[in-house]
This record gives sequence, C-alpha cells and structure tokens, in this order.
Amino acid sequence: MNNASAPAASNSSLTFDAIIVGGGIAGLWTLDRLRTAGYKVVLLTDRALGEGQTLASQGMIHGGIKYTLSGALNQASETIADMPDYWQRCLNGTGDVDLSQTHCLSDHFYMWSNSTLGKLTSFFASRAVRGRVDKVPASERPALLQNRQFKGSLYRLVDRVLDVPSLLANLAANNQGHIYQLDQIAQRLHKDATNNAYLKLNNTGEPITLKAKRWIFTAGKGNADLLAALGCQQPAMQLRPLQQLVVRHRYPYPFYGHCLGADKTPRLTISSHPSNNGDTVWYLGGSLAEKGASMSAAELIAAGRLELTELFPWLDFSDADFSTLPIERAEPLQQNFARPDNAFAKPASDVANVLVGWPTKLTLAPNLANQILAQLPKPDTAIATNNAINDLAQQLPTPVVAPLPWEALRD
Ligand SMILES: Cc1cc2nc3c(=O)[nH]c(=O)nc-3n(C[C@H](O)[C@H](O)[C@H](O)COP(=O)(O)OP(=O)(O)OC[C@H]3O[C@@H](n4cnc5c(N)ncnc54)[C@H](O)[C@@H]3O)c2cc1C
Repeated sequence: MNNASAPAASNSSLTFDAIIVGGGIAGLWTLDRLRTAGYKVVLLTDRALGEGQTLASQGMIHGGIKYTLSGALNQASETIADMPDYWQRCLNGTGDVDLSQTHCLSDHFYMWSNSTLGKLTSFFASRAVRGRVDKVPASERPALLQNRQFKGSLYRLVDRVLDVPSLLANLAANNQGHIYQLDQIAQRLHKDATNNAYLKLNNTGEPITLKAKRWIFTAGKGNADLLAALGCQQPAMQLRPLQQLVVRHRYPYPFYGHCLGADKTPRLTISSHPSNNGDTVWYLGGSLAEKGASMSAAELIAAGRLELTELFPWLDFSDADFSTLPIERAEPLQQNFARPDNAFAKPASDVANVLVGWPTKLTLAPNLANQILAQLPKPDTAIATNNAINDLAQQLPTPVVAPLPWEALRD
C-alpha cells in the first residue's frame, strides 16, 4: 500500500523529537540512548516486544572470532571486536545503557573442530586472538565433552550469552511510559506537502496526528513495508532465511559452543535456554540452520539427529523432542548477498524525516544506536512531551515481552 502524498489531517497533533517504530533490540536500545541524551521520543511497535529476530536469536554477544575462521581478522571482526566490553559495562551498570537487571546464561562459548585442526591451531596461536581464546585441557572439558570418544581440540572464547527475555524486560523497564503498541502502523503512515512523514491515529476518541523531527524505522523485516507505505525506494533490504532446530532432551548439559567444519560458518552452533516447564532446550544454528532453510521440517529434524549422533556418539537422542523454527535475518541489501560487516543506519530516500536501521546482529545494537545518534539534529527545546505522552497512554496499550519462540513449538 502506498500512502504517499495524502493531505495532512486537521486534528490535534503530538510532536516528538523522534518516534521509533519496531520493538526489537534495535528499537529498544535506540530508545534508551535517545532518552538519556535528552530527546523526547516514544517507540511504537505492532506486537509484543522482541517477537521476530531478537527472541529467535542465540543471545551471543560475540567479539567476532567466529568470523575469523578463514585465518585472518577481516573487517567484520574488527568492527565487532569492541562490543563485548561495551556490553559488559552496560551489564555492570556503568555503561551507556543500564543492563544491570539482565541475566547472563553463560560467560563463555566453546569452539571445537575435528576436521580443520591444523589451520585452527596456528590461527588460535596468532597474535590477533591472543587473550580472547584459551585452549581447554582435557581435564577441564565441560561434562558434555568428558568422553573418550570426543575428538579434536577444544577452545574457550570469552563471548557471553545473554538471557534475551531479561534483556528486553530490562530495556522496557528503563523506558516505561515511552513504549506503545499499535497495529497497522504502515497503513497509518503518510507524507505531508513538505515530504515529511506523519502518522494518523484514530483508535478511540479524538483523532491524533503523530509528528516527529525524525522517524526511526527499526522494524527488522517490517522496515520494507514501512518504507513502501511512504513510497521510499531506498535503502533496500535482503532477507537471509534460516531454519533453527529446537531440541528437548534428557541430558543435564547446558552447553554453548560452535563445532567448526569445512565452511566459514560453524558447522553447528549450540546454545542452551531455559524453558517454561523447567527444562533446558538446546537451540541449534550455524550451517545446519542455513542449509535447513531449504529443507522441510522433517528433513531438517532427520539431518539434526544425524549431526548430533555424529558429534556426540556417546549420547542417545532417540527419545529427544525435536522441532524447527523458520526465521529470516533482515539486513540492508549487500552486493552478492554478502553478510553485512556492520550495523546500518541511513536516511530513507523520497522522504525528508526518516532514518532506517538494521543492527544486523544483536551484538551490534550499541553500534547502531551510536550511528543513529550521530545523524540526529539536537533535541528541540521547544518540544514539551508530558501532555503528549499522557494523551498517547490513554489511546494505546503498553506491549509485554513476547514468549520465547520455542514455548509455542512442539513437533
Ligand atoms: C536464528 C537467529 C540467531 C541469531 N543469533 C544471534 C546471536 O547469537 N548474536 C547476535 O549478535 N545476533 C544474532 N542474530 C541476529 C539478531 O537477532 C538480529 O540482528 C537482531 O535481533 C535484529 O533486531 P531488530 O530489532 O532489528 O529486529 P527484530 O528483532 O526483528 O525486531 C523488529 C521489531 O519490529 C516490529 N515490527 C515489524 N514490522 C513492524 C511494523 N510494520 N510496524 C511496527 N513494528 C513492526 C516487530 O514486532 C519486531 O518486534 C540472530 C538472528 C537469528 C534469526
């Protein structure tokens, strides 16, 4: 639907420095940073917080070492290398964003390989990764890998794994009263005669026009619809389909690790997450999930069973419960469909007041917010928002954090 060039409505209007659209990590982090920097800002999202990529992520805050498997630090790993320390300051309560209520699931990630060992040994010994990776002696292996049949060398990365629901709840609590749920946002967007976007709200009571010096679209895959509604051609988006595997099994092994194969992407990435019934689920990504995107659920489950049996022949997964989660990663369009190296935030074409952002990784949300802040005009001292926020609060509900995707999954 293209709502471009609709005339501005003559009803009451509320004006903000910025209105963010999209309630995943990108929108929530940006909201927090903008509020702290003195901007009058609200966030609108069309469903519960985190639904989409953020809650489907594996929660790893990584310093990029997994991107260095080709043997040298590339641009992706250079950009991301500062992020773990940045997040750590936030988790300690001393950073740009207070994440002191966010839980960590793990303070490390393992990496092992039984096929490309020679290349890896020299790589891990190189200066580039010194201090960020330790070789794990056999006596200190985690319980899961304490078996004679385990082959290969094991390394420990300092990468953290966050409990993403607690991260979202932390950001929502920091920004209480500034986050609202509204359906059909794309259909409500229009452009005025000066080529500025605005939103028409006529849910209940008096119609209201929402105006902002800048609209910031951080709606993941939904950015494309928001841009199309305003007739914007750029920036274009690419979607990378994945099909993750969710495994509920009887072993008491919360585990976080990449098994390396011949590809640049880890052959298998395992993270472990709490489930509502008290179980821990293993969530499987990596090459298996990339290849799995073109498989049926049944084919991927069969491939996943085989993979786990090959990697852990001492375990029996025959009575484990497998299900799959198809999900797409939303990114700015790259040449040859490459993976973007960095977070992306740029103005939209064909409209005067819209910025569009994709963090491309949970880890890079701080980087995205920094890029957005650098592109904003200073806060407008003439804007007073207390009444505006009260008016909005009367019309719109506050979204909750969405459930983890595997709570709804059963094969
Ligand atoms: C399987 C998987 C595993 C991953 N693992 C990791 C990892 O371990 N570490 C890492 O760093 N990165 C990881 N990522 C990447 C990371 O999850 C994403 O880069 C990040 O979550 C994107 O956040 P976002 O806020 O831009 O988008 P999303 O999380 O998709 O949020 C967008 C939000 O916008 C809302 N929305 C959508 N359309 C509209 C609309 N029209 N109007 C209003 N609101 C709308 C949605 O409700 C949603 O809440 C992973 C991604 C996937 C898919």
